[in-house]
Amino acid sequence: MTSPLLPTFARVDLQFEQGQGVWLATRDGERYLDFGSGIAVNSLGHAHPHLVEALTRQAGKLWHTSNLFRIPEGERLAQRLVDNSFADQVFYTNSGAEALECAIKMARKYHAANGQPERYRIITFEGAFHGRTLATIAAGGQAKYLEGFGPKVDGFDQVRVDDAEALKAAIGPATAAILIEPVQGEGGVRVVPPAKLRELRKLCDEHGLLLILDEVQTGVGRTGKLFAHEWSGVTPDIMAIAKGIGGGFPLGACLSTLEAGKGMTAGTHGTTFGGNPLAVAVGNAVLDVVLAPGFLDHVNQISLLLRQRLAELRDRFPHIIAEVRGEGLLLGLKLNVPNTSFAAAALDERLILVGAGDNTVRLLPPLTITEDEAREGLARLEAVAGRLQREARGAAAGAA
Ligand SMILES: *Cc1c(COP(=O)(O)O)cnc(C)c1O
Repeated sequence: MTSPLLPTFARVDLQFEQGQGVWLATRDGERYLDFGSGIAVNSLGHAHPHLVEALTRQAGKLWHTSNLFRIPEGERLAQRLVDNSFADQVFYTNSGAEALECAIKMARKYHAANGQPERYRIITFEGAFHGRTLATIAAGGQAKYLEGFGPKVDGFDQVRVDDAEALKAAIGPATAAILIEPVQGEGGVRVVPPAKLRELRKLCDEHGLLLILDEVQTGVGRTGKLFAHEWSGVTPDIMAIAKGIGGGFPLGACLSTLEAGKGMTAGTHGTTFGGNPLAVAVGNAVLDVVLAPGFLDHVNQISLLLRQRLAELRDRFPHIIAEVRGEGLLLGLKLNVPNTSFAAAALDERLILVGAGDNTVRLLPPLTITEDEAREGLARLEAVAGRLQREARGAAAGAA
């Protein structure tokens, strides 16, 4: 198949024409249950009426003015993010990687503003994913993303999450910050224990480092709190968000305290598109829903149901499912069969999952999923596990 697209994605040969809530439909009307949400992006599902209304209303008024002018809806969204988090200020981006770029630059600039420009190094963790720009692939440290792209951007030191000694040893006079995802998403839905986050906060305070959280995947309700770090009780100095905040419209943000952002004065950073009127109209509409009383309780209820039933599936199909992981509706199944086979078998059952590292598949349904829809997903997962188990038995019998 020749394609005019740069072949960087191994795409599934499927195309969807329409979405409604947790459902996606192909042109011939085949319906798929979407437990991928476009990689944790469609936080309110597809074609949520409130988001459609907000976007179309804004589209008829004004699309773009650039950040040379004030954008009142952007100021309103920033104020709501500030009112509901540790942060004092917000910088908008179009993507997660750009939000991380802002976070990285801010951490370096902070120390420069303090008269210590030599402090520019950031400690990151094995299995991390922070995006695909030159700096964020260096931060993520994965060889497969770095290879062939020239010298790795300097300034990132990577340690294992569970190696407290290596972490302490990595902190030196050039260290500016520690950067971590509260739950590693791409890395395989690996939850960082709350005690670990508290330890990182303490280390940062002791050594004058900034704590940067990458909540691009975990933020905006995905884990059952508005931001995942709330489970641990610690707050960061800088936080990157994206994915869920736009509900499908490209929007990211870098949030910070006044202190951490003190080097980012006029002219030090910028963006043409970031936080344009269309994006922030949708961002506000997403928050209207996510901040409504009871919404996060709903996320946690569905999460509990899924986790209980998934644990039962693991017990029934131990040769297929090794472990259930995650928080809220960022759930993962660590598998004993290749995750690609599992995801392909799920597609046969008209269920969309997303693969991740450490041989896992991610379950990332829209946060608006109902209990009945969750049960439908579980039934399909049961069918997948059952089929893979029968196939494995058949293969073993054939070999015997
Ligand atoms: C998706 C993701 C990113 C990168 O976001 P893009 O919008 O693809 O640039 C960064 N960090 C985490 C944790 C992510 O899940």
